[in-house]
Amino acid sequence: MDLIEKTEELLDEELCDHCLGRLFAQLGHGLSNDERGKSLRVAYAMSSSEEERTDVPSEPENCSLCENLFDEIDKFVDIITDRLESIGFETFLVGCRIDPEIEEKEEMLWTEYDIQTSEPIKSEVNREIGKRVERKVDAEVDLERPDVKAIIDTRFDSLDIEIAPLYVYGRYKKFEGNIPQTKWTCKQCWGEGCERCGGTGKMYETSVEELVGEVLKEMTFGEDFTLHGMGREDIDARMLGDGRPFVIEIKSPLKRDVDLEELKNRVNSDERVEIQRLKRTDKDKVIEIKQKRSDKSYLITVEYESPVEGEKVKKGLAKLRGMCISQRTPSRVDHRRSDRVREREIKELELKDMDEQEAKIHIRSEAGTYIKEFIHGDQGRTEPSLAEELGVECSVKELDVTEVHYET
Ligand SMILES: [Zn+2]
Ligand SMILES: [Zn+2]
Repeated sequence: MDLIEKTEELLDEELCDHCLGRLFAQLGHGLSNDERGKSLRVAYAMSSSEEERTDVPSEPENCSLCENLFDEIDKFVDIITDRLESIGFETFLVGCRIDPEIEEKEEMLWTEYDIQTSEPIKSEVNREIGKRVERKVDAEVDLERPDVKAIIDTRFDSLDIEIAPLYVYGRYKKFEGNIPQTKWTCKQCWGEGCERCGGTGKMYETSVEELVGEVLKEMTFGEDFTLHGMGREDIDARMLGDGRPFVIEIKSPLKRDVDLEELKNRVNSDERVEIQRLKRTDKDKVIEIKQKRSDKSYLITVEYESPVEGEKVKKGLAKLRGMCISQRTPSRVDHRRSDRVREREIKELELKDMDEQEAKIHIRSEAGTYIKEFIHGDQGRTEPSLAEELGVECSVKELDVTEVHYET
């Protein structure tokens, strides 16, 4: 059946130009569906024989398929742009929910008239709304990762807005112990507030996550935040050197163009932490820093249980330098974690300072090394260890992470 014959049959269906044209959406470039619909009516009239010359059939007043949904596009556009006014964004995407009955009717038409060239009504509505919204707001459509997604339900004129998280990359330093990297909910009350946590609901007064996140949340009018770190140091360890790479994620920010210099200054006014090298990033960076395995360098003050001679320490370190140590899952680590043995290389080992009671040691080791266990041996679970090598019990008096070896 040719196009004209099909059009003739379809005229009985009382379709608007959009719905008629959409059945042939894959035919002809640079046309909108309503232009296709109009053209088909014209072509039909022009193809009539000389004896039975016909007028161009007019568009029916009520479309039997969409119930004149396309007359409502401007209303949807207004609903969307009104809401978007209070949100800062550079890219957006419009989506819609269509009455399922309309979608069903449409599919029946495809079957009945053997239509292979259509597109779903949903995609036309999305496009028509998107084009007009784009004209009214200072932003572009992004199909992959829009800052804002607006989904309108065409039956109820209701709107759902999804705001993509905002990500900022940086490095943090931490100058005090007793600050965990991320917020730690009180184990006794699970955040409710109890005697143990002094009503805060937290195990520690604050965290790097809160010290950075609260400021950025305020600046972006966001809902919540999460800090993703490239590994984490022990709560009592300081984080020095160039700092540890992290990404702070703000959920549902109403403002995206943040002044990173201001963020830095405000966070750094608290002397416990310092952030630097800030830049805007995306969620790929979160995956990257979570997967990246970087060497770490430490400066550790080791305390001996009884005095040790300097020569013995020097020899011991020389022996351990460059060795692969094997570590069973430490006893201090959550016992629900499976007990396994891992091999880790001690790449650098250097004596910085010492007396008979203690030594300051620089260590560079592979990602995932349990560094405290390498010092005290964890009752033989880490082998070899410094304690084993020196033949005396050793404990970690101070531990600073001096470098996370990661470029950028
Ligand atoms: Zn229609
Ligand atoms: Zn509590």
